[in-house]
Amino acid sequence: MTKLKWTGFAKKSPQERINLLKNASLLQTNNQENLDKQVELPLDIANQMVENVITKLALPLAIAPDFLVDGKTYHLPMVTEEPSVVAAASFAAKLIKRSGGFTTTIHNRQMIGQVALFDLHDFEEATTAILHQKQLLISLANQAHPSIVKRGGGARDLWLEQKEDFLIVYISINTKEAMGANIVNTMMEALVPPLEKLSKGQALMAILSNYATESLVTAKCHLKLSSLSRNHDEAHLLAQKLVKASQLAQLDPYRASTHNKGIFNGIDALVLATGNDWRAIEAGGHAYAARDGQYRGLSQWTYDQKTATIHGQLTLPMPIATRGGSIGLNPTVTLAHDLLGNPNAKELAGLMTCLGLAQNFAALKALTSTGIQAGHMKLQAKSLALLAGAKEAEVGPLVQKLLNEKHMNLATAESLLNSLRNAKRS
Ligand code: NDP
Repeated sequence: MTKLKWTGFAKKSPQERINLLKNASLLQTNNQENLDKQVELPLDIANQMVENVITKLALPLAIAPDFLVDGKTYHLPMVTEEPSVVAAASFAAKLIKRSGGFTTTIHNRQMIGQVALFDLHDFEEATTAILHQKQLLISLANQAHPSIVKRGGGARDLWLEQKEDFLIVYISINTKEAMGANIVNTMMEALVPPLEKLSKGQALMAILSNYATESLVTAKCHLKLSSLSRNHDEAHLLAQKLVKASQLAQLDPYRASTHNKGIFNGIDALVLATGNDWRAIEAGGHAYAARDGQYRGLSQWTYDQKTATIHGQLTLPMPIATRGGSIGLNPTVTLAHDLLGNPNAKELAGLMTCLGLAQNFAALKALTSTGIQAGHMKLQAKSLALLAGAKEAEVGPLVQKLLNEKHMNLATAESLLNSLRNAKRS
């Protein structure tokens, strides 16, 4: 087994990268074999996952290496179709590692379910009756899903809130390694008859909430000023601009939305790679961004001039799973968990949040210095070259030609490719 050196990883071919992973024994044998043979989700399994299946959609799975998180090194699998996302995450991870890496705090890990009651004659009487039977209701919820209780999880607490005509019953549930949608929904539905009886009202619906405020995770990182630029004045200016960019995202929802999209560029890619429900993570994150009534940026950046250090912090709900749903059905997802060292759900939630913070740092740094178009245009040119049908050896020269054009589009790429080929023939 050789220690994998990540320098130059980006310049290698996919096969060379696979060989490097093999030489470093980063994967278990079956996953390495699946990678060697490029084994994908079988169609008959896909057909069991959703309805009316006709084929599968492939997306690139890449590695953002060398994330130092809580003193341990991770190589993060990312599934994304967007150019420059993986490069940006890798760049940020490298800088942040030099300043000591990331730290994470898992504040809690419980899902929340709710039963919305309406048509109540007496809210006070209903509230008293329900709270009086709180322990019984918690144990009824647990009886509806005994296997999660056997695993050490289950319903933990119950509380109520009146919102206009609704009396809403909330229950927090420890779902262990699962995201818990089905576990929570089963429990909530089991509580409908006793809650209707106790409240003398009707239940409108019984379901989990994706606003997982009992599953908050924080990632932090500190960057030495010198890591921004060798030139002190330039680094100082950049640090000030990072802080301003962070403030802007707190004040302006138009910017906050794009700021958070950048965070989710990273998070979604790891959520997808690990077979998790990205709609659930997005919904929870955006709801948390609007928790005080205004939609704001999820991360904050501050600059301590005395210590010449930049501090970054990101907190959001992260009810991520390592069991349940489609995890375990897709061989590429199994490979992704293996590449991460098969972390448990709390550890994985921490990694997701670190990746979001890294992605945010890279985006803000680019935006407040060179702008993001410089890097994007090169990758856009590469996509256009591939779309125009350029072969591997033609991509490089075609990209160079495209970058010299005022307007880059597919028609230009096709015409430039034609002239390249004609020039080669003559
Ligand atoms: P599952 O329904 O697959 O339930 C997880 C199951 O995994 C458990 O019931 C448990 O089964 C098993 N398991 C094995 N080991 C463990 C462990 N260590 N800890 C916990 N469970 C374990 O998944 P979820 O309930 O998590 O639901 C997620 C799915 O629901 C996703 O596909 C999601 O897309 C979907 N969904 C999401 C909704 C939303 O977000 N609003 C709504 C509806 C569905 P056992 O104990 O019986 O062995």
